[in-house]
Amino acid sequence: MPIICCYAVIGNPIAHSYSPKIHKLFAKQSGFKISYKRILASKSNFSTLMKKFWNSGGHGINVTIPFKELAFRMLCESKNGKLSDQAYSAGAINTITLQNDKLEGDNTDGLGLVKDLLQQNFTLKGARILLVGAGGAAKGVLKPLANEGCSRIHIVNRTHGRAQEICNIWNSNLQNQRLTHVSSGNLDSANISKWDLIINATSSSLYNTLPILPRRIYSDNSMAYDMVYSSKRTPFLEFSINDGASRCSNGLGMLVAQAAESFFIWHGIRPSLLPVMKVIQPMLS
Ligand code: NDP
Repeated sequence: MPIICCYAVIGNPIAHSYSPKIHKLFAKQSGFKISYKRILASKSNFSTLMKKFWNSGGHGINVTIPFKELAFRMLCESKNGKLSDQAYSAGAINTITLQNDKLEGDNTDGLGLVKDLLQQNFTLKGARILLVGAGGAAKGVLKPLANEGCSRIHIVNRTHGRAQEICNIWNSNLQNQRLTHVSSGNLDSANISKWDLIINATSSSLYNTLPILPRRIYSDNSMAYDMVYSSKRTPFLEFSINDGASRCSNGLGMLVAQAAESFFIWHGIRPSLLPVMKVIQPMLS
């Protein structure tokens, strides 16, 4: 099996990333071998490291916390940059592909989340959703969730202005307004309704803390979803079970599903998710 292509994930922190393992397992399933490495970047060297990667023969890169919005801006400003519709509506990028000297940015986070929720038999149609966080991950999942027909999405964030900005951009498009009612507020405003699904799209669980939300905000038969994945229940999922969420999930399914969508963009093959989840699950710290 010759090594055919060079891939990487770039972010900070990056040591915890399972992307190299997941992509190598997908490649093995598909009968070929890839090289896939982790790149630790800072805001000041992000652009230099990206250039170095492409110049050294890189074919595709995943962008992770906290650079998804920066990568979007870079591609918008680049003469040889191109964006998929999903990347454009998200304003954040998690997958970049070098093709015919053009860098094409995409965002597969939303599709990954939707796939995982549907796989777990959560009914998105008509659901009232509280989206906590306003970074690249929150932006990336907004449209794919709305496309599934949920009735309302309320975005709350520690820094309210960032949630408001996402909401304003959404509501400036009439077609979006027809799709789903989107509103925003600070974390305290989470008690304006009961929620069928609360998604923690903040990075708080990485630091073993949680966004401070009001109590009694889950509806009957509701779900708590933390995008962060770990072997233990995160503080947010603990809070949610105590607050009345009927079930909870971490973001492992989303991680594997969004990686599978990147893999599809790069190789044209949609790999099986379950065998890979079974390998990664026991590796979680
Ligand atoms: P960003 O750095 O772009 O955004 C971070 C967000 O978290 C901001 O909204 C920030 O609020 C908020 N935040 C951080 N710490 C706290 C805290 N202690 N209390 C309240 N809010 C906090 O990160 P991303 O949006 O790219 O990623 C967010 C998380 O989602 C990451 O942990 C990432 O690992 C995970 N993720 C998982 C995926 C998966 O496949 N499972 C895919 C994508 C992301 P503020 O604006 O106030 O600073």
